[in-house]
Amino acid sequence: MYEGDIASVLISEDQIRDKTAELAAAIAEKFPEGQPEGDLLLVGVLKGAIFFMTDLARALPIPTQMEFMAVSSYGSSTSSSGVVRILKDLDKDIAGRHVLIVEDIIDSGLTLSWLMRNLSTRNPASLSVVTLLRKPEATKIDVDVEWVGFDIPNEFVVGYGLDYAERYRDLPYIGTLEPHVYGG
Ligand code: 5GP
Ligand code: MG
Ligand code: MG
Repeated sequence: MYEGDIASVLISEDQIRDKTAELAAAIAEKFPEGQPEGDLLLVGVLKGAIFFMTDLARALPIPTQMEFMAVSSYGSSTSSSGVVRILKDLDKDIAGRHVLIVEDIIDSGLTLSWLMRNLSTRNPASLSVVTLLRKPEATKIDVDVEWVGFDIPNEFVVGYGLDYAERYRDLPYIGTLEPHVYGG
C-alpha cells in the first residue's frame, strides 16, 4: 500500500499497541470504575484521533463514553492567534463529567489550548488530555498534558489517523513521507 511514498516507519504497530496499553492502565488508575460523576467521557478530536481513540477505549479496563469534536484553525497565516472554528460540536452536555480529550498529535499546541479553554467553560468535573504524539514545540505551551505516548522529532508524520491531504490515515503505523509526495 502507498508503494514508494513512505520514507520510514517512525513508530510501528506493535509500539503503538504497547504504548496504548500503558496509557490505558495509567488513565484507569486515575479514573476507576464507579465514580459518582459517571463513566469517563472521551472527547476525540476529528479526524486524526479516531484510530487512537477507538484503540484506547478498547484497551481501557473501565467503561467509557465517546464524543467527537471537529475543529479547524483559521488558515496558516492566522493560526498563530489560536483562533479555532468549531465544525462539529459535542452532542452532549459535559457539565459535572470527567472529560478526557484524546488527541492525535500536539505541535504548536494552539488547537489544544483553545479546546481546553472552550471545554473548561462548560464546567466539567475534570478536564485532562492524552495525546499519542507530541512534537518539540508543544513542550513550550502552557497546557498540562497529563499523558503523552511518544515525543517525536519535528518532522511531518502520517498514518494511524494522521493525513497528508486526507491520504495515509489508514496506515497502521506512524511514518514519514518521501519528498516526492509533497511535489518535491
Ligand atoms: P497544533 O495546534 O498543535 O499546532 O496543531 C495540531 C494539529 O496539526 C494536529 O491535530 C494535526 O491535524 C496537525 N499536525 C501537526 N503536526 C502534524 C504532523 O506531523 N502530521 C500530520 N499529519 N498532521 C499534523
Ligand atoms: Mg488533533
Ligand atoms: Mg490533517
